[in-house]
Amino acid sequence: MPIGMVILGRQGSGKGTQAVRIAELFGVIHISTGDMLRAAVADGTELGLKAKSIMDSGDLVPDSVINGIVKQRLLKEDVQQGGFLLDGFPRTVGQAEALSSYVEDSLQLALNLDVPIDEVMARMLARGRDDDTTEAITRRLELYETDTAPLLEWFGQRGILKIVDGNGTEDEVFDRLVSVVDQIVRK
Ligand code: AMP
Repeated sequence: MPIGMVILGRQGSGKGTQAVRIAELFGVIHISTGDMLRAAVADGTELGLKAKSIMDSGDLVPDSVINGIVKQRLLKEDVQQGGFLLDGFPRTVGQAEALSSYVEDSLQLALNLDVPIDEVMARMLARGRDDDTTEAITRRLELYETDTAPLLEWFGQRGILKIVDGNGTEDEVFDRLVSVVDQIVRK
């Protein structure tokens, strides 16, 4: 498989927006687990019915559920041909371990979009998504610290973590991301 990347960052860090732009520029497939889950909720599938209340409360869908969904997506031809940028996955060390078993060496870069808590809180309240209640936001930020932040060390130990400053305008942040991805893609 061509290059595989993940983008980490607190919810509200702008990673979804940036992930779409990066994937387009580098010609890789953008895979957002949040978007996949929201689509399942909208379609009223069995997965969607299970996921909805979990998502509304700001909790995480169990690894056993989300890992299988991601594995199936990674096996599709477009990803096998084009490579991927995962957005919103992994969120736990268990998910990261599952991911590395699915993709092995093709996972070459973990971007962490770094934005302080106060700033992401303000941005999430401003975007006004259905699941963006104050309680759900607080819960998601808590879970980020306990479950997702340890991934920084996990990816760091594997030598593929790059921290990118997520403050500033969308274009400024995008330029920073592009220069980091460029270094890896051109190697
Ligand atoms: P997001 O769009 O990435 O903020 O995800 C929205 C919600 O979907 C999260 O608050 C979780 O409830 C759920 N979700 C998305 N990705 C994952 C994941 N990798 N593991 C567990 N839950 C997830």
